[in-house]
Amino acid sequence: MRTLRRPRSAETMPDAGRPGRGRLQAISGRRKLRRPGPAAGEYREATSVRAEPARGGGRRDARPVLPLRPDSGRKRGQHTARYLFKDWPGVSRRLRAAPCVALFTDFDGTLVPIQPRANRVRLPQAGRRLLARLVRHPRIRLWIVSARKLADLRRRTGGVGVRLAGLHGWEREDARPPAVAGREALRQAAKRLRERLRGLRGIWMEDKEWTLAIHYRGAGEAAVRRARAALREVLRPLAPALRPMLGKKVWEVIPREMESRGKAVRNLLAEGSPDSLPVYIGDDFSDESAFRALRWGITVHVGTNRMTCARYYLRSPQEVMIFLERIEREIS
Ligand SMILES: [Mg+2]
Repeated sequence: MRTLRRPRSAETMPDAGRPGRGRLQAISGRRKLRRPGPAAGEYREATSVRAEPARGGGRRDARPVLPLRPDSGRKRGQHTARYLFKDWPGVSRRLRAAPCVALFTDFDGTLVPIQPRANRVRLPQAGRRLLARLVRHPRIRLWIVSARKLADLRRRTGGVGVRLAGLHGWEREDARPPAVAGREALRQAAKRLRERLRGLRGIWMEDKEWTLAIHYRGAGEAAVRRARAALREVLRPLAPALRPMLGKKVWEVIPREMESRGKAVRNLLAEGSPDSLPVYIGDDFSDESAFRALRWGITVHVGTNRMTCARYYLRSPQEVMIFLERIEREIS
């Protein structure tokens, strides 16, 4: 019997603990798979890994295609995070001792609350002033890393002077994303999805040039089901070039060559002072790779779900602002 290869990326296979029935049992002899744990807040938006059934009795595709189903349970490297302000004495000591703080923060859901329409989001004045002060601080190197395109991110944070990295760190002021083979596949996927998703209420596709985002916030269950089926079907033949990534009420389609957010922040960190203390704050599934990549630093998940690769959690963007104010105070 042909066995299934396990995917390498956490985004493609965020949950080793919830195999689909049947085919994935083929790998269970090599490594015991854990059953899902209890429901875990926001990560119910995340995925299970499921191999698509073979079509027409032909050769089976070994790739686990399109993990788009809601899921729960613990994923690789996750544990129960601690409330950051409860551990403040220890965090404060580390901040004070650090020669430089490399501060990375996500945007939507982290610095600003998520809005029903992503284009309504703006960084409020108080947040702008705080970020502008942090940017000027000689011991802080501040980055905003987002799934948004750089130009979009710039519009929403404009005038603050913070370093920006769009498309999960792939797009920067000083570096455009490299040409990748997956872009042609992405164009095909965009064209087919535009046709297939037309008329589905509450579902809209955002073409970000190097990635696609299919938003379903506010869509009814039936529309979400149909959109998921369409996405699965469109991406099946393109799976060698594209991979799906899940976010909060959004499916992203990304060229396989595009590296994770974790890899991107490691690169950004390496460009700065090597003895910096990394701080990473994020709220979504894509932030988990960054939490893992910077696990020796201060990593903070935002939201009510405490099962994360981050060491700490905060409850809301409001608490993130308090944290940033505290950072400013501690290292002044
Ligand atoms: Mg976010």
